[in-house]
Amino acid sequence: MVKKQESGLMEKIVSLCKRRGFVFAGSEIYGGLANSWDYGPLGVELKNSIKKLWWQKFVVERDDMVGMDGAVILNPKVWEASGHTGAGFADLMIECKKCHSRFRADHLGFVDEKGNIVSREDISCPECGKEDWTEPKQFNLMFKTNIGPTEEKTNMAYLRPETAQAMFVNFKNILDTTRKTLPFGMAQIGKAFRNEITPGNFIFRTREFEQMEIEYFIEEPNSDKDWQKHFEYWVKQTKDWMELIGINLKKVDAFEVPDNERAHYSKRTVDFMYEFPFGKKELYGLAYRTDFDLKNHEKFSGQNLKYKDQETGKEFWPHVIEPSFGVERSFLAILCEAYQEDPSATLGASRVYLKLKPYLAPYQAAVFPLLANKPQLVAKAREVYDSLKNRNSSFSIHNSFNVAWDERGNIGKRYYSQDEIGTPYCVTIDFDTLENNTVTVRDRDTAKQVRVLVPELKDFLTKKIYS
Ligand code: ATP
Repeated sequence: MVKKQESGLMEKIVSLCKRRGFVFAGSEIYGGLANSWDYGPLGVELKNSIKKLWWQKFVVERDDMVGMDGAVILNPKVWEASGHTGAGFADLMIECKKCHSRFRADHLGFVDEKGNIVSREDISCPECGKEDWTEPKQFNLMFKTNIGPTEEKTNMAYLRPETAQAMFVNFKNILDTTRKTLPFGMAQIGKAFRNEITPGNFIFRTREFEQMEIEYFIEEPNSDKDWQKHFEYWVKQTKDWMELIGINLKKVDAFEVPDNERAHYSKRTVDFMYEFPFGKKELYGLAYRTDFDLKNHEKFSGQNLKYKDQETGKEFWPHVIEPSFGVERSFLAILCEAYQEDPSATLGASRVYLKLKPYLAPYQAAVFPLLANKPQLVAKAREVYDSLKNRNSSFSIHNSFNVAWDERGNIGKRYYSQDEIGTPYCVTIDFDTLENNTVTVRDRDTAKQVRVLVPELKDFLTKKIYS
């Protein structure tokens, strides 16, 4: 019987990630850097597969979407227009734990006449009315940096706290160069940086992370029905994406964020809350940003950022639906879904395997010669391995798998080792191969084996992996 072991699941995932080279603690040889993580050889493959699949689904396969890749450091005025900076930026800040609104601590009475911080439990949040505060701190979420050799204030800039703004800033460029008509979207994948007050839960909340974001521009709505239609469409698209990467939708709640907890720019927000082992937490967000961003960037830049309808000649700021996906939170949810233990295994301990979608797995297949000391087996296995990798073909970039090679130890251990990293198919070259040109293909989830002719192997695996 195969059982999902919920107890201690996070510890098991963290340990597997380190043991097998998915995720390492950042700067480990120097004692680490709190809540920073590095992705090893298998982790980077999984991360890349997530991003590639997302790009394929939301950009390549659609006619109404274009991609872009903006800078991490933008003109600081961008963050004034977006509302990320403000008059209280360099002051003592306090954050409401409920609605995440931030305030000048002195404005609310957390600082006495002498400038000392005072502890008060009776102050309610002006936004949501709750009395649940973080400790006052001297920073906001944006990381500051300096451009140029001096540290004068005029050279100060920020690392972007979201990828979205580069898309708004380039709205006109993209419109002019692509001639897209509404509705259409822009997509971007890239790093974002937030000086989070409470990072933690492994890679769930970090100060440096990657976002996959879409800004979907729609007509100026005449009624709520107009934008709700697009919004519902993106709810469905987000759910379809989750299924594509192997998330069980029964573990996801689409949470309607109430008025007093929404970001200042949003008229409707749905947070997709996934049942992580440490609680139900936001996996992705979907927001209706209205025309807030384009309007404000026009105000701050003095540039016309309106859209002109070619038929009616009407000019207006398009409204925006924004689905926002975290790469690392996807990575973690995928691992939580995929981790399996099979206690009926024969090699002593339970068989641990990652039931990853085959197209996401770091390796789609592994190739083994049955015995490492039989040159004929090794040579034949190399031939199969090279053909799967397309090493001898000029088309390798278009049609190759990631394939692992292993010739160490006994075959059972090699299977278990591949199971643990989610390799869906193991191909073994044995003495029968030399006789009849067939190999055994063993399935990760069922441990069942079939024999396949070598010339048919690639097609056989392609169908299994992508259908
Ligand atoms: P949270 O409420 O968890 O802080 P948020 O509402 O601030 O998240 P958004 O601003 O909506 O997050 O960002 C969009 C997506 O980016 C999130 O749904 C999540 O997947 C990802 N994300 C945001 N902050 C982090 C972080 N600190 N670490 C990892 N991923 C993050």
